Amino acid sequence: MPNIENPTSRTLADLGVTQADQLSSLFTEVRSRFDAEISRAHDEPAWNITKVMWLGRKSGVLAQITDNWLRPASPELKRAVGAGLNELRAQVESQIEARRQAIESGSDEAALAHDRIDLSLPGVARPIGSHHLIRQVFQEIEDIFFSIGFSVVEGPEIETPYYNFEALNIPEFHPVRDDMDTFYLDLPKNAPTPLLLRTHTSPMQIRTMEKRQPPVRVIVPGKVYRRDNPDATHSFIFHQVEGLAVDNDITFCDFTGTIEYFVKQFFGPGVKTRFRPSYFPFTEPSVEFDVSCIFCGGSGTAAGGGTCSKCKGAGWIELFGAGMVDPAVYGFVNYDAKRVSGFAFGMGIDRLAMLKYGIDDIQVFFQNDVRFLRQFS
Ligand SMILES: [Zn+2]
Repeated sequence: MPNIENPTSRTLADLGVTQADQLSSLFTEVRSRFDAEISRAHDEPAWNITKVMWLGRKSGVLAQITDNWLRPASPELKRAVGAGLNELRAQVESQIEARRQAIESGSDEAALAHDRIDLSLPGVARPIGSHHLIRQVFQEIEDIFFSIGFSVVEGPEIETPYYNFEALNIPEFHPVRDDMDTFYLDLPKNAPTPLLLRTHTSPMQIRTMEKRQPPVRVIVPGKVYRRDNPDATHSFIFHQVEGLAVDNDITFCDFTGTIEYFVKQFFGPGVKTRFRPSYFPFTEPSVEFDVSCIFCGGSGTAAGGGTCSKCKGAGWIELFGAGMVDPAVYGFVNYDAKRVSGFAFGMGIDRLAMLKYGIDDIQVFFQNDVRFLRQFS
């Protein structure tokens, strides 16, 4: 209900109105209050309250104006107040009637919007996405290694040269650094150390051994970066899973047995594995693991005759590098190289996914084309 602050509950003399031309702003103020209130009356109960508040015979706003403004007005003002009141009454009555019709006919927009919700209609479907193929392959690999006692650790993609190279037995000017063309961060000249985007997941071997004493059995899934020009088999960003196992009595047999178990779980029990001597600065001896060609069954011959294009007739496909941890690496993490031994491997996930799912272009992993991705959802 109108309160004491309301101008319609006071006389014109109280409001300091002495001239007819002061009246119009008063009536305008009252009118805009009415407009605001009637616009909020969207249903019959609200409409009723608004009507009583404005047209109620005893204490409606128009009755108040009659009592407080018109009756006590000076003879000079009376005519102007009467004219203003009549105009206001006409507007209030016609709008209240118009609003009643609108509510009754259901054409009131706000009321309609409320009623338009049809609960019998089906809801809005929100399609749930699926994991990217790379993420799925990560999970496959994690599950296989979980089952033989490995756990997952993750590490920073921005690394120091110490963790990415030096502690892995790759001193400055080592030729291997040329093979890992590296992105360095553009830092201020006075930065305490250069920073780079890790070129492999191997820094986490060091970070893990710094924090844990043997036995250590971890895999490290993650993104790595090299300054390669993009083509069907190269990308400046790709994915690796690093593996590291260190304990008091780990032998070369444990190493090859673990890798073979993984490969057969991942590609199927029918595949064969072999390893060839190789070189990595942080493993000794180092090997390159091959799997029998999954496209020609290791025969080197394509299904319709002729040479298998995937293994180029060799019957074997290069999988990834691995080896026994070089004792020099233990020196960087305060492990006793005389007492511990272990193995490490680094697998290219994109390559494994391409082999397993018959994908011939690494770029499709990064193009986010749903027509490609949907095949693996
Ligand atoms: Zn083949």
